[in-house]
Amino acid sequence: MLVSELMLQQTPVARVTPRYGEFLGRFPTLESVARARLRTVVGAWDGLGYYARARSLHKLARTVVHETARARYGSAGCAASVRTATLPAEPRALEELPGIGPYTAAAVACFAFEVAAPLVDTNVARVLTRVFAPGVDPRTAAGRRAAWTIARATLPRRGAAAYTHNQALMELGALVCTARVRHCGHCPVRGCCRGREEKKERRK
Ligand code: SF4
Repeated sequence: MLVSELMLQQTPVARVTPRYGEFLGRFPTLESVARARLRTVVGAWDGLGYYARARSLHKLARTVVHETARARYGSAGCAASVRTATLPAEPRALEELPGIGPYTAAAVACFAFEVAAPLVDTNVARVLTRVFAPGVDPRTAAGRRAAWTIARATLPRRGAAAYTHNQALMELGALVCTARVRHCGHCPVRGCCRGREEKKERRK
């Protein structure tokens, strides 16, 4: 989940899909990334661009493995003796790690650990503001903040329900309520969407 989120940050799905499987084949665990040389990890990122993400992943893996060794064996703990290291599950702890911003932290927490975490990417910000605050432009800093506020307020409390809710919002933004066109006629949330109502009013 972490690798897919990092790859998808700045690279389209079609380019990520073949490289994702190859990368996980070479580096199936955080420990395998941590053990590898930086240039090997960056080399496996070849073709995806924005190599800072590969460098961050390498640094992150070493940080997590090192922290795991310290937690298990004390300050003299050796990272090489760690066989299994796992990421923290909470968004705030994830955000402390290299290369992890609020969206990636929330996506990993929610989709990998089923933690009820609100998440907002470009698509989700667009959908949430169209549905609940159609006068707000999600491309502005204020609009982005408004989208996060709405995301927090509408998130189900249970982790499994939050997982489904966040997946549905992302799908809605990618397939139905896109940047270019709003398919309001067959949108599952048309009954409560203020963006759609305003469109109707403008036609009158
Ligand atoms: S009803 Fe229309 S504007 Fe509202 S979320 Fe659906 S597609 Fe977007």
